[in-house]
Amino acid sequence: MRTVETPVLIVGGGPVGLTASVLLARLGVPSLLVERRPGVTDHPRSRLINTRTVEVLRSCGLESAFEEISLPKAWRQQVIYTTSLAGKELGRVKTDAWAGDATLSPVLPLISSQDKMEPLLRECAEGLPGAELRFSTELIGLEQDERGVTATLLDHQAQRKEQLRTSYLIGADGAGSFVRRQLGLGWVGQTGIASLMNVYFLADLSPWIADRPAALYWVSSKGVTGVLAPLDGEERWVCQIGYNPEHESTGDFTPERCADWIRAAVGDASVPLNILSINPWTLSSVIAERLRRGRVFLVGDAAHQLPPTGGFGMNTGMQAMHNLAWKLAGVIQGWAAPRLLDTYELERVPVARYNSEKSLENFMLVARVNAAVMAQGAGETEVDDETRAAIRGARRYGNFIGMDLGFAYAQGAVVPDGSAPPKVADDVSRYIPTARPGHRAPHVPLVKDGREISSLDLFDFRFTLLTGANGSAWIEAGRKLAQARGLPLSAYRIGPYGELSDPAARFLDAYGLSSQGAVLVRPDGHVGWRSRLASTEPGPTLERALALLLGR
Ligand SMILES: Cc1cc2nc3c(=O)[nH]c(=O)nc-3n(C[C@H](O)[C@H](O)[C@H](O)COP(=O)(O)OP(=O)(O)OC[C@H]3O[C@@H](n4cnc5c(N)ncnc54)[C@H](O)[C@@H]3O)c2cc1C
Repeated sequence: MRTVETPVLIVGGGPVGLTASVLLARLGVPSLLVERRPGVTDHPRSRLINTRTVEVLRSCGLESAFEEISLPKAWRQQVIYTTSLAGKELGRVKTDAWAGDATLSPVLPLISSQDKMEPLLRECAEGLPGAELRFSTELIGLEQDERGVTATLLDHQAQRKEQLRTSYLIGADGAGSFVRRQLGLGWVGQTGIASLMNVYFLADLSPWIADRPAALYWVSSKGVTGVLAPLDGEERWVCQIGYNPEHESTGDFTPERCADWIRAAVGDASVPLNILSINPWTLSSVIAERLRRGRVFLVGDAAHQLPPTGGFGMNTGMQAMHNLAWKLAGVIQGWAAPRLLDTYELERVPVARYNSEKSLENFMLVARVNAAVMAQGAGETEVDDETRAAIRGARRYGNFIGMDLGFAYAQGAVVPDGSAPPKVADDVSRYIPTARPGHRAPHVPLVKDGREISSLDLFDFRFTLLTGANGSAWIEAGRKLAQARGLPLSAYRIGPYGELSDPAARFLDAYGLSSQGAVLVRPDGHVGWRSRLASTEPGPTLERALALLLGR
């Protein structure tokens, strides 16, 4: 058995593992990704790519490629509840969070399908120096000591075992995670809330929906309950069919039975269909007991399983990887202390827990709509008040910009500045941008070298120090410190005579600064530290802030 070495081993080539490979390469950290399947998935599960994830993809140069595989915007603006596509429409909910808001971000959220996303991430990773990907390769053993991790890999094609020594291992190996089980970590939360079949099929359903495109069609009647979801606005669809595992098994769901279900959901027994694949899955709302043990980290579904109602599972995983990647880079490259890695769990557990709870609430809201329809006699008569109220009550499902952009880190690699978070009427559906430490740095349109950019475009996998027009003392101090400590840091003065101009004069307000204040944004685009005013000692002040941020 030969032994090879790599700084980071990524286990799993799903969307989160592939994102890890891309982000680490962008940060200059070599890694090896192993995936037991021969290639990326051909079965679609995840569809929504929320605003924050598209911002991460933009920073990797992938925004346009993902836009090309997205469901057109007209389809992202509402959810429809109906007895069947041909039957009585029960109600509609407008979905602002799936449509996006150009005042809050330079990007729009997208809806696509996992089988289209993974090849783009794979292609991107394979084109980056330092990112090595091996398919048909499974992790079958794992041991760690103080200096590193020894992984045993099985190459399925060559039928050969290999030992690999790595400084850090990322378990992105999905819900059944071998890595999580090897660490002896269980789940906290509810598993097995519902059992569903995810059916991928081709059909022309335009006769029933051409004049009412929607992101989801929830179908509810005595004969059929579930959801039809368009993938491309043409012929590609998935549907989710619930079943009771006590009375039925996955084997009962033959292509013929799934086709019957789809025809009943459409309300036309003769609609031509082509079933491409059928995958069982279990709806759970759980988070692993720990997200880290020693040099091994869990990310994505290996770390948490969210109900897909809301579309947060993959997004939460990819954003957690964005949180972890720069910390690993800092420790491996020597500009941060190993203690910084403790902040991954500290920062991400509350976000995962919150997203999981809210996704479960969405699931319950839809169940309430179904119950109201059943109570009414399957929507055969007029839509009653209870059904209408249940549909209105499901408003947060599809209107979650607060969850998408408003999550913040209360403790971790953050230096609080004593300010309070903005008060929002509903933290799920409302978002007020703020540069309070811990929050995502807000989007402000700026001009750099005559080109319009977003403030978010400045956060290019480095620390970024931003000041107002009179903040040159901060800039000078930041540049000196970065040079002395080998820290990747860019510094910009924004406003008249600065490196960047602020044509709409929004920067100072949006970032809560005077023209002499400064803000330090982490490589993942979250604010780490802020000084609203000038300092008589900008160098030592920044040095103290960086020491706290980097775990020194
Ligand atoms: C019906 C449905 C709809 C969904 N919709 C959304 C949505 O709209 N938005 C959203 O954000 N999320 C959604 N999700 C959730 C989303 O699909 C998952 O959160 C996402 O796939 C998790 O990605 P991952 O990379 O962590 O894990 P996975 O996609 O499960 O990938 C894990 C990979 O690890 C590999 N692997 C496992 N063990 C090993 C091993 N020992 N060695 C090597 N490789 C291994 C597996 O083969 C697999 O390829 C949905 C889920 C379902 C079921």
